[in-house]
Amino acid sequence: KIRVRFAPSPTGALHIGGVRTALYNYLFARQHGGEMIFRIEDTDSQRFVPGAEEYIIESFKWLGIKFDEGVSFGGNYGPYRQSERKDIYKKYVNILLENGKAYIAFDTPEELDAKRAEIQNFQYDASTRMSMRNSLTLSAEEVKSLIDSGKQYVVRMKIEPNEDVVVNDIIRGKVVINSTILDDKVLYKSADELPTYHLANIVDDHLMEISHVIRGEEWLPSAPLHVLLYRAFGWEDTMPEFAHLPLLLKPDGNGKLSKRDGDRLGFPVFPLQWNDPKTGEISSGYRESGYLPEAVINFLALLGWNPGNDEEIMSIDELIKMFDLHRCSKAGAKFDYEKGKWFNHQYIQLKPNEEIASLFLPFLKEEGVDAPFEKVVTVVGLMKNRVNFVKELWDQCKFFFVAPTEYDEKTVKKRWKEDSPAQMTELMHVLEGIDDFSLENQEQIVMDWITSNNYHMGNIMNAFRLTLVGEGKGPHMFDISALLGKEETIARMKRAID
Ligand code: GLU
Repeated sequence: KIRVRFAPSPTGALHIGGVRTALYNYLFARQHGGEMIFRIEDTDSQRFVPGAEEYIIESFKWLGIKFDEGVSFGGNYGPYRQSERKDIYKKYVNILLENGKAYIAFDTPEELDAKRAEIQNFQYDASTRMSMRNSLTLSAEEVKSLIDSGKQYVVRMKIEPNEDVVVNDIIRGKVVINSTILDDKVLYKSADELPTYHLANIVDDHLMEISHVIRGEEWLPSAPLHVLLYRAFGWEDTMPEFAHLPLLLKPDGNGKLSKRDGDRLGFPVFPLQWNDPKTGEISSGYRESGYLPEAVINFLALLGWNPGNDEEIMSIDELIKMFDLHRCSKAGAKFDYEKGKWFNHQYIQLKPNEEIASLFLPFLKEEGVDAPFEKVVTVVGLMKNRVNFVKELWDQCKFFFVAPTEYDEKTVKKRWKEDSPAQMTELMHVLEGIDDFSLENQEQIVMDWITSNNYHMGNIMNAFRLTLVGEGKGPHMFDISALLGKEETIARMKRAID
């Protein structure tokens, strides 16, 4: 059974790289008819940020990524919040202590600092542990009496040196690391009776029967320790498979995309707007910036993976079908902001006009416009190919809803000719005589009028546009006049001519 997990630490807003990790887990799980678990890794109470968990849940709701189990979703493997699993971890720490794979260490932060000052590149490992204050160097009685007296301690993993640890990674192949470079990582702290990330993560992945660990490359250095932990528990047979996803890089490829890059580069790096409760800082989000969730999903899916052909626009169902961990790149993926906008543009074109019109209504309301929905739908249909974001529609199409009160000076200079007033008055009368104001009929009659009078087509159309729009832009002229209707068209012409 395929079971994957997304296991964020609630230390702040969810970075877009985290969203990509969750997305790949989701695509993989869905493709295999598996399950996706949402686990909160909150054993580091110092880094806990209130609201972060809720933020993450809301982000996935907006994006349409659904979990099968986990915090706020329920399930049979809970609790799914690590701070509620203290007793479970205690039990497993004791197993490691009993089978000699871990030991208790009493060194205080000051003592460790002193060692670091004394020994260059000090590392707590096989070469130094015998000179430290721990259960390997103290007698059992001493250890017991220290604990009984309330002395705080940590539990460290006892890593045997000179061993090649193999991590089989689906994306990177066989990664071999010699255990000598690893330190005896802290697994547990008596002070808060909580495990560290490594122990909690392995125990939970095991108990929650996780089959595949799909996570960011930044966790690759921890993977050898994780393999050793599975071994220490005797869980090698059911050890999950690993896939470490490529990093997201800054747009120029220079280093990892950081949380700080977001607003500095004029682009969100968070799914939703984030109000940092600690600093009061507000960071922009994709949702508030006007992105469609489908566009964000599609954009992210292609940052580190490709389907092996030129296809770029893929629905979530297509992504589920096509996704393949083996096709993920090892190299980091450059974060291309412009491409993100391009995706949003594409999705605006793909969506039914009715849906875009509904999204546009709040903006119209803000402008004090109360137009019939069918009209908004038609305007959206005419104008949506000009925008990357729904909110940009207003600037493009406001003339459909409000008559121009000013006429663009440059356009007037260039396009309002000496005989324009007379010609527009004449055209006005022609239009007044038309009963069927449909686009086709209007166009036919006006064209006939232009030819029979031998008028200059461009001049007429430019002046006509100026009277209705107030400037030189906009779609096909008769689209505009037909939609405005006879009355409004005539009224605007009259005002312009005066
Ligand atoms: N809690 C870790 C994080 O914040 C989970 C890493 C993992 O997937 O193992 O990303």
